[in-house]
Amino acid sequence: MTINYKSLAINGVQNLQPYMPGKPIDELERELGVSNTLKLASNENPMGPSPLVLEALDKAKASIQLYPDGNGFILKQKLSNMLKVNQNQITLGNGSNDVLDMIARTFLCEGREAIYSRYAFAVYPISIQSVNATGVVAEALPVDHETNPYGHDLTAMKDLINDKTRVIFIANPNNPTGTWLKSDELHEFISAVPKDIIVVVDEAYFEYVQEGEYPDTLQWLEEFPNLIVTRTFSKIYALAGLRVGYAVCSAEIADLLNRVRHPFNVNAMAIEAATAALNDQDHLENCVDINTKGIKFWRAACQYRGLDYIPTVGNFITIDMEQNAVPLYEAMLKEAVIVRPIPNYGLPNHLRITISTAEENQRCLDALDVALEQYPID
Ligand SMILES: *Cc1c(COP(=O)(O)O)cnc(C)c1O
Repeated sequence: MTINYKSLAINGVQNLQPYMPGKPIDELERELGVSNTLKLASNENPMGPSPLVLEALDKAKASIQLYPDGNGFILKQKLSNMLKVNQNQITLGNGSNDVLDMIARTFLCEGREAIYSRYAFAVYPISIQSVNATGVVAEALPVDHETNPYGHDLTAMKDLINDKTRVIFIANPNNPTGTWLKSDELHEFISAVPKDIIVVVDEAYFEYVQEGEYPDTLQWLEEFPNLIVTRTFSKIYALAGLRVGYAVCSAEIADLLNRVRHPFNVNAMAIEAATAALNDQDHLENCVDINTKGIKFWRAACQYRGLDYIPTVGNFITIDMEQNAVPLYEAMLKEAVIVRPIPNYGLPNHLRITISTAEENQRCLDALDVALEQYPID
């Protein structure tokens, strides 16, 4: 008897699109016969982590036969001092994706709904559907909206709230669009959400944002006991390969998240590395500075070429190629530069490019120019 195993999976899993990872660099280089490939496809920090992180890792490797501290005490202590919250308000994750999953396992199940925006981060539907809950997509602001095109439409999100709604996911700024919500509008939105609905504000790019009106959400935790803020060490702290992120929320909700958290979810190297990373403010400021210059570089480059881009405050920029972007992506690959086409987000004409150092930005732009020669924009 042949069994259709897909039919045995829970409905939410059957309906999930498999996440398409990029090819490993080594493999790509062999296929294309190129070397020294520049990867600007996953919003990783080109500067790498602080030297303090490498030192901490060197020390930590002596003890990897031991289980990590299941509570991540040293990291929570550091975060708690830095963020001015209590340790019992922090939940550590194996990347912030792990925290998103814990939120879904804690508050969602079959018959319950979670709202997120069109073009929002791809992990939300994975977390929602893997517990058989229903994801409800709010239309984004229209392309010609004068502020925040492609951004979260908070009114549309609010209108989707009903008795079954348990969680709302907001990415601020969002990946892959780079769009962001100002303090006033986000505060007004959360105020209007019933307190028995969890609002998750995903701030993976928090440290990069230089806008004065960007919200200081941790200040709102007392006012909004239903608010969960998530952040990560994968982006500006350059620890994507180690997997560490965290949530900050009320102690009551943190207690629930920690009940579903797997006991040793954050590994020993990651705990040490993340703790050390927080000690190097100079490195962080340098990375912000380079990114801010990079945003200006790409803005100017797009304007000069007549390319429409979505205004960004993160470490990536998403550009409208006014045609299927995959051939351009492939032409850039031949120049040994990897960027990200995002048809999986319903944006088949856009390329998302990670912002890097001056030299790497230029190399990427040169590759884009080569690609645009083959596929000109009329
Ligand atoms: C990169 C990213 C994350 C980070 O995920 P980790 O699991 O912490 O690596 C979270 N949210 C968004 C919107 C992101 O772009």
